[in-house]
Amino acid sequence: MSIKVENITKVYGEQKALNTISFSVKSAEIVGFLGPNGAGKSTMMKILTTYINPSEGQVKVNGYDIDSDKKSVQSSVGYLPEHNPLYLDLYVREYLAFNADVFKVEKSRINDVIELTGLTSESHKKISQLSKGFRQRVGLANALLHNPDVLILDEPTTGLDPNQLVEIRNVIKNVGKDKTVFLSTHIMQEVEAICDRVIIINNGKIVTDKKLDKLIFQVHMKE
Ligand code: ADP
Ligand code: MG
Repeated sequence: MSIKVENITKVYGEQKALNTISFSVKSAEIVGFLGPNGAGKSTMMKILTTYINPSEGQVKVNGYDIDSDKKSVQSSVGYLPEHNPLYLDLYVREYLAFNADVFKVEKSRINDVIELTGLTSESHKKISQLSKGFRQRVGLANALLHNPDVLILDEPTTGLDPNQLVEIRNVIKNVGKDKTVFLSTHIMQEVEAICDRVIIINNGKIVTDKKLDKLIFQVHMKE
C-alpha cells in the first residue's frame, strides 16, 4: 500500500476536522478526494505530508510511519499545497534551482521536471508573469523535483480556466502513470476526468470509497 490511513481523528480546539477516518491507496493508483469546503480534505493532506500531526490514529506513506519515520515520509511524497506558495519575483528556473538546492536534488532534475510539466516555453519567465495554469505547473514541477513515489495535490485545478484545466489534467495523468496520486477537489467531473477511484468526505467522515466505474454505474441507475 502506498497510503494507509487508520482511524485518523484531528481536532482543532473545539472543531473536529477529521472523525475516525480510514482508507488506503494502492501503488500507482490515482485517487480523487472529493468533498465540499470545510470537509477536511486539506487537513488530511497536511497529515499525510507530515505538516501537522493527527490527534489520534496511524498513517503510513510508502510503508513509513508519519510519526516515527517523518524524514522517509517526506522524501516519499511530493506536495502541492492548496494555495501553492511561490516566490513571484523569481524566474521559473531560478525558483526550481533554489528548491533543488534546499532539498539536495541533482541539478539535472530541473530540466526533467520542466519538461514533464510542459513548462519549457515559460521557463525563462518570472513567476509573476505566468498565468494561473502555468503557476500551478511550477508548483507541480516543484513537487516532482525529488522524484517522489507519491504525489499529494490539494485542489490543483481550482481557479483555472477551461483550457488550462484540460491541460493540467493531462499533465497530472501523465506524471501519474508511474506514481501514486492523491488529489483533492470539490468537483465530481474532475474526478471522472483523472481518477481511478473516488473517496468522498463530508464533515470529517468518509461517506463513499469506490472505483469510479462502479460509482458512475450506480449514479446512472438512480436517474
Ligand atoms: P477542506 O480542505 O475540505 O476545505 P479543511 O481541512 O481545510 O477542509 O478544514 C476542515 C475543518 O477544519 C473546517 O471546519 C476548518 O474551518 C477547520 N480548520 C482547518 N484548519 C484549522 C485550524 N488551523 N484551526 C482551526 N480550525 C481549522
Ligand atoms: Mg482545502
